[in-house]
Amino acid sequence: MTVIGLDDTDSRERGMCTTYAATLVADAIREAGGRVERRLLVRLNPAVRHKTRGNAALALHTDVAPETAMDLAADVVDRLAVGDDPRTSPGVVVADGDPSAVPEPVRTFARDAVRDFHATDDALDLAESSGYRHRGWSGGRGRIGALAAVGAWAAFDEWTYEHISYREFDRCGTPRVVDDDSVFAAAEAAYPDAWDTVDTEERQAVCVPNAPGPILYGVRGDDADAVRRVAGDIESEPTERTALFLTNQGTDAHLRSGALDSVEDGRAYRLDGRVYDAPETRVGGHVFVTLADEHGETLPCVAFEPTKRFRDRVRALREGDELTVCGEVSDGTLKLEKFAVRGLNRTETVVPDCPECGKRMKSAGRNQGYRCRTCGTKNAGKTEREVQRDLEEGWYEVPPCARRHVAKPLIRGGFDAPTHPER
Ligand code: ATP
Repeated sequence: MTVIGLDDTDSRERGMCTTYAATLVADAIREAGGRVERRLLVRLNPAVRHKTRGNAALALHTDVAPETAMDLAADVVDRLAVGDDPRTSPGVVVADGDPSAVPEPVRTFARDAVRDFHATDDALDLAESSGYRHRGWSGGRGRIGALAAVGAWAAFDEWTYEHISYREFDRCGTPRVVDDDSVFAAAEAAYPDAWDTVDTEERQAVCVPNAPGPILYGVRGDDADAVRRVAGDIESEPTERTALFLTNQGTDAHLRSGALDSVEDGRAYRLDGRVYDAPETRVGGHVFVTLADEHGETLPCVAFEPTKRFRDRVRALREGDELTVCGEVSDGTLKLEKFAVRGLNRTETVVPDCPECGKRMKSAGRNQGYRCRTCGTKNAGKTEREVQRDLEEGWYEVPPCARRHVAKPLIRGGFDAPTHPER
């Protein structure tokens, strides 16, 4: 088996995309008489700054010889990659051998590429010492992603599907013609085997990208037949070609466990803590809430405006609620992707009501407790009262319209508490 890793062939302005380049390489392999056994769409660390959009890298598992694989991939990069875009820095890595048996350092490199940062030189050293062919263009930084894509099959054990339908190339840059009603009907019929196809509350066809580029729509899910079926049921402008990818999207592969006092920017975490004070909505509609641990360490968390109705969940939090939060830390603030309510603070301390007339008591003077001025009843201090809560225990998440590619939707299951999935 030969493994081709490919990355960074795209440009923000021209709107190319590496999945398309990989699809062209796959077509070229077939035209050369080879077979493509598997296509991987691997999402790497979403915090990488020089990414174009979703930090995707691609791998093809094929039976053509390594030198043929490199020639075919290089030919596609030469034709497609946008060399005059300073942000585009393509790379191809070709490995000879079983993708599930890559050397341990390659597997570790792939795992770290989703959670951490790598330098191009580290990728080159490791590709060399592993005996892999590699080629770079304009600096070849794409070899980081390409090598990670080569190691991905061994590095991750959880895979989902994305079925991508591509536009006719000449139409790229023009508004996409996709019939929304057919998208909603197909999404409904296949849910939850296919997820994040639409956002039912925002009435948004999430599977249709906004950015320029050759993708018409991409359908995600746990079942290959379901995503194919949804794609087939969508009515739209003509599609030029389609491809089915195995992907680490929707798996939370980016999250690591951690503690509030040791988080670092550019990494994504799963963290336990207690709500420190009341959530606050700031300019722009972003909702902030601070988390604290038992040592008094605090971490601000935010639900940005585009997370829409998720912000109501965050606003419903109260001081003292016990949480697990998930998200990337950036500028010392955790950008919430989901959170679990582990315990709700259901009591508040209030000035007591008079047991006779029911009216609120008044202060009886400094350290004198409270007193009803009408009935003369007294109470030594404040009392506790139960608070009605709009949240339940369990996991809450951003809606499909705000989901990061790699974030795991609750509907996929496997969580350690009840879930409240958004759809
Ligand atoms: P698109 O979604 O349109 O395919 P993209 O968002 O995947 O684009 P790229 O243009 O591929 O973005 O740019 C990402 C760059 O970051 C690549 O050069 C890749 O090699 C590199 N990269 C990926 N992961 C890491 C990492 N963990 N550390 C450092 N560099 C990385």
